Amino acid sequence: MEIKSVLLDSCDVCGKANVEGYVVASAFGPCSNAVCLECLASGKESYHEMVAYISEAGHWPTDINEMYQKEVRRQLELHGKTEEQFKEDVERMIELYKYYDEVN
Ligand SMILES: [Zn+2]
Repeated sequence: MEIKSVLLDSCDVCGKANVEGYVVASAFGPCSNAVCLECLASGKESYHEMVAYISEAGHWPTDINEMYQKEVRRQLELHGKTEEQFKEDVERMIELYKYYDEVN
């Protein structure tokens, strides 16, 4: 069965507007995204969601298993981000979680 692509308002991964694509499940967690054909072809995921998922698991890379480390490194290459940037973003998110825990 062929599943036809749809016209997306914008791609949740790269942000391109009015592109052809599909709504697909994320490889990182229980979430679906509207993804353009180009991002779909490379398996590119949303950077911000990846930061959120990994920071919920713990600190990068010490708390993350090898399988996810490998996939994160592949995603960082696709996004043109360094591991150092990613580590900083994960730490910032962990600090945010602590803040929300304190105020709630
Ligand atoms: Zn895209």
